[in-house]
Amino acid sequence: MAGHADQFRVARFLWCVRRNARGLDRFMSKIFDPSCRQCPRLAAFLDGVRAAHPGYYAKPVPPFGDPKARLLIVGLAPGMHGANRSGRPFTGDHAGILLYATLFKFGLASRPVSTAADDGLELIDVRITNAVKCLPPANKPLPMEIKTCNGFLHTELTRSPRVRALLALGAIAHEAVLRAYGLPAKQFKFAHGAKHVLEDGRVLVDSYHCSRYNTQTRRLTTPMFEAVVARALQIAVAAASAPAA
Ligand code: SF4
Repeated sequence: MAGHADQFRVARFLWCVRRNARGLDRFMSKIFDPSCRQCPRLAAFLDGVRAAHPGYYAKPVPPFGDPKARLLIVGLAPGMHGANRSGRPFTGDHAGILLYATLFKFGLASRPVSTAADDGLELIDVRITNAVKCLPPANKPLPMEIKTCNGFLHTELTRSPRVRALLALGAIAHEAVLRAYGLPAKQFKFAHGAKHVLEDGRVLVDSYHCSRYNTQTRRLTTPMFEAVVARALQIAVAAASAPAA
């Protein structure tokens, strides 16, 4: 028979799921535009991808997760056969394997794998967003495209008062967060595991991107990634529970 602690955990989980479903649509409409074509090169590229792959999502990919999260994970951009196909960040490609398994390990996801946008997966107290919402050719957005899409990240940050920690996956995500804050990148150097206190008290934690290249070359190992996620989560939870000054 389940103990009180287990029953409490299940009840809390179900409450979070219901709360997320209620708030998600309203929140997303404020921080994301599914019909955005502000970047002509990316919009034209997606038109071609849609023609070549009629079953692919092939539009700007929305953030995914808890609208009231304390931890925000920032990736780079959708991958061709991952988020661009499924319509959910880090879903359907190699980069999502380690990410979702790690979130599940720390109680931030309802299951360890993300297979499709309608697979019922729920994130709790964490949200995943991308610095660039549209698939870039060769996974390389142009500086102007990163700059243009930064308006969405800026809005997401300003409309997420509960976020206390940000985990940037890779240098481009790191720089996108700084840009959203109007902070100079040279004063906040990217390094795996580095921690940067931002002007509003939030903390930016850096990680190597959990890409296939980084994990297969062991530039980023599972213990390394789990440690950096644990660090960011610990900061988010500790900051949120600290008494107001
Ligand atoms: S990358 Fe961002 S700004 Fe550019 S078209 Fe896509 S959603 Fe719009």
